[in-house]
Amino acid sequence: MNNMPQFLFGNDVNYSTYSPRSINKTFSIVLKNVDGTIDEKELLNDIQAIENEVTAIHRIKNAALDKPTPLVRIDCGTETCRDRLLAIRKLVVSPFAFPIVEYIPPTKIIRCYKCQGLGHYAHNCLNQLKCSKCSGPHSIEKCVSTTVTCSNCGGDHRASYPGCKARLSYINVLKSKQFSSVVSNTSQQQRQQPTYSTAASH
Ligand SMILES: [Zn+2]
Ligand SMILES: [Zn+2]
Ligand SMILES: [Zn+2]
Repeated sequence: MNNMPQFLFGNDVNYSTYSPRSINKTFSIVLKNVDGTIDEKELLNDIQAIENEVTAIHRIKNAALDKPTPLVRIDCGTETCRDRLLAIRKLVVSPFAFPIVEYIPPTKIIRCYKCQGLGHYAHNCLNQLKCSKCSGPHSIEKCVSTTVTCSNCGGDHRASYPGCKARLSYINVLKSKQFSSVVSNTSQQQRQQPTYSTAASH
């Protein structure tokens, strides 16, 4: 009876089974090439004048650098509003024309609390115990180390650090899988996207 997606444990967790659902729930899109000097409140006002069902905007941060990116997430009140925006492909807020792309929500990462490895749960883990702070062979509660070493990338941060190189490349792999499943689920003519290449020249 327990066949809900969140009870699918193990190495073969199928991420793509619930990713399209979460996209539908958020009704968001992403604007590209939004200069950091652009005021978000003003931009929201301008966008709402065009699409009054837009509820909020958020600048997307780069987790690794903890810095804002030229990407802005646009939250739509309804699915039809989101689809309208995706269909027009470019949002013209004079003097700008921002390319519109699909929003892919942040990927939930499973981290094993036994070995700190990504993508499996501790109860399936046959690896050696590793400390999430120093990567030594003990639990975090017993840790006496004064140095911090990530067991996944060797960097000087805890295994839980959102900007960890190993974590980010793992997310990229998941996202590309997610994205290809989204693309193959939608109609095939979404392939050519000339707006991508016309990045604003500075
Ligand atoms: Zn493990
Ligand atoms: Zn330790
Ligand atoms: Zn790391």
